[in-house]
Amino acid sequence: MAKICLCLGEETLDANLRTLEKYRRYIDLAELRVDKLLPDERFLIRRFPALAGMPVILTVRRKRDGGVFEGEESARLVLIANAISYAEADRRMNFAYIDIEEDIEVPSIEEAARAFGTRIIRSIHAESTPEDPSAIIAKAKSLLHFGDEIIKLAAPAHNLNDVAAMFNAASELRGIDKLLISMGSAGMCTRILACKFGSLWTFASAKDAPVSPGQLDPETLCKLYRFRDININTDVYGILGFPLKVTASPPFFNPIFSREKMNAVYLPFPSEDAAAFFRLADALNIKGVSVTVPHKQSVMPYLAGMSANVKNLGACNTMIRTEAGWDGHNTDILGFSDSILNFMKRKSFRGIKATVIGAGGAARAVVYQIWRGGGKAFVVNRSRSRAEELADRYGFMAGGLDENSTRTIKKFSRLIINTTSVGMGIGCKDDPLFMYKFQGTEVVMDLIYVPEQTALLARAAAAGCPVLNGYDMLIRQAKYQYKYFFGAEYPQP
Ligand code: NAP
Repeated sequence: MAKICLCLGEETLDANLRTLEKYRRYIDLAELRVDKLLPDERFLIRRFPALAGMPVILTVRRKRDGGVFEGEESARLVLIANAISYAEADRRMNFAYIDIEEDIEVPSIEEAARAFGTRIIRSIHAESTPEDPSAIIAKAKSLLHFGDEIIKLAAPAHNLNDVAAMFNAASELRGIDKLLISMGSAGMCTRILACKFGSLWTFASAKDAPVSPGQLDPETLCKLYRFRDININTDVYGILGFPLKVTASPPFFNPIFSREKMNAVYLPFPSEDAAAFFRLADALNIKGVSVTVPHKQSVMPYLAGMSANVKNLGACNTMIRTEAGWDGHNTDILGFSDSILNFMKRKSFRGIKATVIGAGGAARAVVYQIWRGGGKAFVVNRSRSRAEELADRYGFMAGGLDENSTRTIKKFSRLIINTTSVGMGIGCKDDPLFMYKFQGTEVVMDLIYVPEQTALLARAAAAGCPVLNGYDMLIRQAKYQYKYFFGAEYPQP
């Protein structure tokens, strides 16, 4: 099982100790980033391990490796040497680890470290991830000078191809004590699944203050991502989308996994490129995937099989790994209709004339369900041709997202549903239906759930309309997803 190391990047030792105290119960060790300390504080670091009361890594990172140390290299080496040379007989009072970059050859520092029981981490902070895993393997092995070091290879992940390359390299580096990190949001899984990447620990930092790009805080790692329960046999599930800044799916699935004592974890896989995701999904043997904006159509060519609904809609939001390949389903359909019909206290859409804003993946599910339930829809979209293409399938009307559509929207105003991403995100004030004046009689649904009330819903509610956001739909469709993932009903708490 991998450990959690808290990176301490405050300017003073006291501030670092306060951060450490805040997260103590979630962490196993800490890294003191001496380069981030104020110059005067750097003279006092010797006493930090005793104050921390847990194993501490000493790191004085140069600017070229992503740190902030600006002094002469000789000054940096003296700082490191002083910190480890005057060691205490009780080894717990000494730095447990020292991070030395790949090009540093100072035998006296290494000898002192070995003599006083301080383990050497040989690190490299690359500017990019080599495409070829064998290049990563060669680089990693070159860090082993004596054979007793822990090797640390950190590189930015520009996409999931980089993460897949890192994972493939990791499997070839079995048996070597190592830390492999893909930095940035694409590399989040290298931090949560550190154990699967063969890393001894993951680096974390205080909430909303990452010391390195992509670091999570220890509490989120433990509570949301079940870090302490993950082992090499843990089944991986997740959500594919981009930019995927907002998703309620991990907080939905991971607590069920904990409650039901399932050896599984669910995490976000932000990826612009569907092909890169599938490469990583194969490497990690991901078992099931939720698919969100903008990939509900782009995953279709990767499906070996699909439900009739997916075939009809041309949109897939759920994928399950089978022996034959990925099997695609769509749970937005029932999630949407269950949610809105429950809200309207109706059994079907019969007789309802609705306006659907948008013509993407979610709109396809919404329009299909309205048609199946006996309703009629007017589809409006920024790209009018997409609205026409969608509406034509069901003999519905279509229009652009502009003033010319307002008269027809009025005729189709019993129910108005926003299926576009316009208005998504905290603080966003965009309103896709800016040109329409609510009468107060419309039921208005926005598939967005962050913010809780979009500008569209706020304006509709102010006019007296009953409004519903997309959270209830999300939970309902996720329960159907659970059934596809595990072949069993969602276990009610
Ligand atoms: P999608 O396939 O990428 O479709 C995006 C839609 O938004 C298209 O109609 C697009 O119009 C429109 N759009 C994007 N930016 C726009 C802008 N600046 N102005 C006007 N229109 C714009 O995405 P999706 O999968 O359908 O998802 C759409 C939204 O629904 C997302 O916010 C997603 O989170 C939400 N959703 C929620 C649930 C839930 O359970 N609550 C389920 C599914 C989806 P063009 O065709 O002109 O590009």
